[in-house]
Amino acid sequence: MNVLVLNCGSSSLKFAVIDPDTTVEHVSGIAQRLGSPEASLDVRRNGSRSSRPIAGARHEAALRAVVDLLRDLGLADGLLAVGHRVVHGGSKFAGSMAITPEVIAQVEECVPLGPLHNPSNLVGIRIAQELFPSLVQVGVFDTAFHQTMPPVAYTYPVPYEWLERHGVRRYGFHGTSHRFVAQRALALAGLPADDHALVTAHLGNGCSCAAVRNGRSVDTTMGLTPLEGLMMGTRSGSVDPAIIGHVAGAEKRPPQEVLDALNKGSGLLGVSGLSNDMRTVEEAAAAGNARAGLALDIFCYVLAKTVAALVVPLGRLDALVFTGGIGENSATVRERTLRQLEFLGLSVDAAANAAHGRGTRGRVTTGLKPQALVVPTNEELMIALDAAGIARAA
Ligand code: AMP
Repeated sequence: MNVLVLNCGSSSLKFAVIDPDTTVEHVSGIAQRLGSPEASLDVRRNGSRSSRPIAGARHEAALRAVVDLLRDLGLADGLLAVGHRVVHGGSKFAGSMAITPEVIAQVEECVPLGPLHNPSNLVGIRIAQELFPSLVQVGVFDTAFHQTMPPVAYTYPVPYEWLERHGVRRYGFHGTSHRFVAQRALALAGLPADDHALVTAHLGNGCSCAAVRNGRSVDTTMGLTPLEGLMMGTRSGSVDPAIIGHVAGAEKRPPQEVLDALNKGSGLLGVSGLSNDMRTVEEAAAAGNARAGLALDIFCYVLAKTVAALVVPLGRLDALVFTGGIGENSATVRERTLRQLEFLGLSVDAAANAAHGRGTRGRVTTGLKPQALVVPTNEELMIALDAAGIARAA
């Protein structure tokens, strides 16, 4: 039996139908530019892609179009469950949950923490409940994996009342990906489930690292929001917060605009002035563009510095795991980062590193203790596995 995985964003709806037992993905796709005349449903099946217009469709019409597609493909009947990605679970969810009215109320309470994502996630849940009233619906939270962090890792050194009154603390994100690659890395690295120390680096459009000790996240780099931590495609990562007041004052702009620039106009895009896409930045750097070269240098420097810092909560390092679009595909980023971590005993294997691209997995260092690995992430599969487990136990 298959699981329908849904990831409902503000103007998009990603879906996948996955068999949790064989891990086969039967079909996946994205309905994007929802609410606009250019809305389309883009579908991937058996390695081929197709696209059709669904002009003006909003989430409900888009999900109906997905259900029609699944009917045509003979995949609509016999679904086991629907798994929903939910971005912000605050401190309320330490694991995936069957959706109940109480769970929905708690996700609503987390809207102030995830104002850009949680409302859309809730729309997806509501529509899926209407379309599949007899199926178990499961919420899988980006933040849940990091709920095992101790107070010393999640408490900011700010007035304590902010935590009590407004929930100001580190939550962390990409938890589904960090959990998935940490599990997969164990078998690849030959590490025991009850005694390992990993740093997982999810490097995509958004980037974060997690320190994983014996299957539990003990620290991570994203914070109250996904803005904190590593340099990313358009996000600055950690910077001095006084920048906001300084630039707002100097340019006579509202502080919110400066904050928006830290989220959307910084990172690779902001420094290079070219693109948020690592491929473009790498090509420009190789062609001699100085600012692209600087952006690439900062990206790898901050990453290496962060990995080293995360060895503190771990006490030792068994493996560093690279995943996400950049982590899986960019041999350049891995090599430059690893060269700065040689003092930890990580020694890059240039040939193995160059051989890894999307869909391949394995070691990219010469040594075994510690080692660095590429492990392709699959958040949709992790959501399907969680949803299947909860549906079968219900
Ligand atoms: P994701 O969010 O995980 O899909 O990752 C998307 C990012 O991966 C893109 O913005 C690119 O920066 C990066 N990426 C994908 N392919 C490559 C590649 N071959 N080399 C470098 N970066 C890549």
